[in-house]
Amino acid sequence: LVGTGAGPVRRTWGRVLVEVPAGANVEVIKDRLGRVFGIAYFAEAWNSGQQLEDLEQNAWELLQRYPFASFRIDARRGLKSYPHTSVEINQRVGAFVKERSQARVDLEKADRICWIEITEKYALMYTERQAGPGGLPCGTSGKVVVCLSGGIDSPVAAWRMIKRGCRAVLVHFHSFPYTNRESQEKAKQLAAVLADYQLQSKLYLVPFADVQRHIMVDTPIETRVILYRRYMMRIAEQIAIRERARVLVTGDSVGQVASQTIENIDVISRAIQMPVLRPLIGDDKVEIVDMARKIGTYEISIQPDQDCCSLFVPKHPETRANLFDIEKSEARLDVADAMKQALETSEVVTAGSSF
Ligand code: ATP
Ligand code: MG
Repeated sequence: LVGTGAGPVRRTWGRVLVEVPAGANVEVIKDRLGRVFGIAYFAEAWNSGQQLEDLEQNAWELLQRYPFASFRIDARRGLKSYPHTSVEINQRVGAFVKERSQARVDLEKADRICWIEITEKYALMYTERQAGPGGLPCGTSGKVVVCLSGGIDSPVAAWRMIKRGCRAVLVHFHSFPYTNRESQEKAKQLAAVLADYQLQSKLYLVPFADVQRHIMVDTPIETRVILYRRYMMRIAEQIAIRERARVLVTGDSVGQVASQTIENIDVISRAIQMPVLRPLIGDDKVEIVDMARKIGTYEISIQPDQDCCSLFVPKHPETRANLFDIEKSEARLDVADAMKQALETSEVVTAGSSF
């Protein structure tokens, strides 16, 4: 919340409290809270004294800012030594508001709700809850390594894992100098956007051209993309081991492109021991594009680039790879040194959040 004017952030009973002094930028604060995973909802709350008379008066003042035909009071006690039960608070404050507003009390479907939460020193009151993004707090679910192309899908896949509390280390393969540097620039920008959701993104930029050169020279053109992918997985797995991450993540969705048939997904996954999670596997492109727009990665992803996998690939690639044939092709390759070199010359950059 740096730069918003927000005061100290404190954790209390089941709540995180952000003090908002006069002059703080409430809209920016709300926008940022809306991106913090683990927040189910948040509210702009006012301070009130704890006496029943204060609660009555302040609830009435808050509620009458907008017209309503029905309402309810929803009190909770964080301070269990408070002398009244929540039911008593509801009844007392409810009666007070009812008498002045002539509105109905509706416990099921009220027009307006006034929430009252009794804390140690005062009471918090609010009438509007805003949905947070849900999910789990960053880092609580462990670390994953995400294969990040410059495309639309993989940043969304990373975001979905971050949403569930994973820290996502990103790995991008590029074919510089066979391609230009655009894909690396895009990967850096995507890493920065994702940092808005996980505070910091670590990105490996892996030079993949040499490995690709071996594959190109010695294997049939139809299976190239599958072979590229299998070697990417192997290198990513090494990075994951180094990072102490337990799984890899990709942006595959069934049937979207030739490399993403069930058969090919099977053959690609078998290159490594580590499980590969594919959070977008059942999503349609339109759904993924929608998410990418909301996350803020779409505009970066659609910038033109030269992806390393589009390098020297056929018009009609293999859609039903056969593991036996693929392994036979690989047995002819002598890429161990090139892979080691790719790993050792990877560039590691860290992107911070824009906040
Ligand atoms: P995306 O939109 O994520 O690029 P795509 O629909 O273009 O996906 P592919 O290009 O077949 O599909 O890539 C499938 C997955 O393989 C990607 O989602 C990503 O996880 C991984 N991948 C592809 N290219 C790269 C790359 N250059 N660097 C890292 N990972 C990659
Ligand atoms: Mg792609």
